Amino acid sequence: MFENLSERLSGVFDRLTKQGALSEDDVKTALREVRVALLEADVSLPVARDFVKAVQDKATGQAVTKSVTPGQQVVKIVHDELIAVLQGEGEPGALRIDNAPAPILMVGLQGGGKTTTTAKLAKRLKDRDNKKVLMASLDVNRPAAMEQLQILGTQIGVDTLPIVKGENPVQIAKRAKTQASLGGYDVYMLDTAGRLSIDEELMAQVEAVRDVANPRETLLVVDGLTGQDAVHTAENFDSRIGITGVVLTRMDGDGRGGAALSMRAVTGKPIKFVGLGEKLDALETFEPDRIAGRILG
Ligand code: GDP
Repeated sequence: MFENLSERLSGVFDRLTKQGALSEDDVKTALREVRVALLEADVSLPVARDFVKAVQDKATGQAVTKSVTPGQQVVKIVHDELIAVLQGEGEPGALRIDNAPAPILMVGLQGGGKTTTTAKLAKRLKDRDNKKVLMASLDVNRPAAMEQLQILGTQIGVDTLPIVKGENPVQIAKRAKTQASLGGYDVYMLDTAGRLSIDEELMAQVEAVRDVANPRETLLVVDGLTGQDAVHTAENFDSRIGITGVVLTRMDGDGRGGAALSMRAVTGKPIKFVGLGEKLDALETFEPDRIAGRILG
């Protein structure tokens, strides 16, 4: 799992004499390699810098264990620290959906995978948690997106709110709430409109929907392959709307996962799920361990 970085680090440590404890210089040299590995995994520079500093403080003076090489030992410290940063509070993937009907607001940019993820999550809630779920599309400017959600709903056996022409997103959200209450739904999911980039109109619309729906969870869906852009998107949505968690999509791609670390470090919000493909069951609970392995390469 750690071959890449381990190899680099053993090269560094081969040149050093064996000592009883990791010296400050040993650690510094090793951490230069760690920083390169983080930057190559698309972790932002300030986050990589802070991270390396934290590891340096932890590693300096640690006794060298006999069973592993100093290089492996530094990798282990880095790995544990990555997990500490990536880990959110509570159960991974847990959602606050106890009081029925619980609203979940899905937000994000167009093309990030929001509609697909709404359906994936609805399917998961239905199949694994036995929840009765209603989905509603609020994307009034793109009738195709509304129809897409309906089609997905049929595929997974989850109800969608009937489409009524001429309504605005706030009206749809209110109708979803009423329908969810009357129909005895446990959860209703609001799939908000996406834009190609963040603009005032989009934010104002999502904000208005948030205010009427009072969501228990506001999940930002972002393309995990977009690296730093995903982090900027998260910062923007969090400061304006307030998100409770993140879903990183396209993690089946060959990205190195650095966005996950930057995302956690910058927004402080947990990554709850990862999308691992186009299929509707390709959604998994976020596992810090796996991402740490990917970042280390
Ligand atoms: P939206 O505009 O944000 O609602 O995006 P969509 O849900 O329509 O998704 C855009 C495209 O990304 C679709 O072709 C999806 O099948 C695809 N997609 C979504 N999530 C994933 C994922 O986790 N992995 C892969 N490979 N494709 C995904």
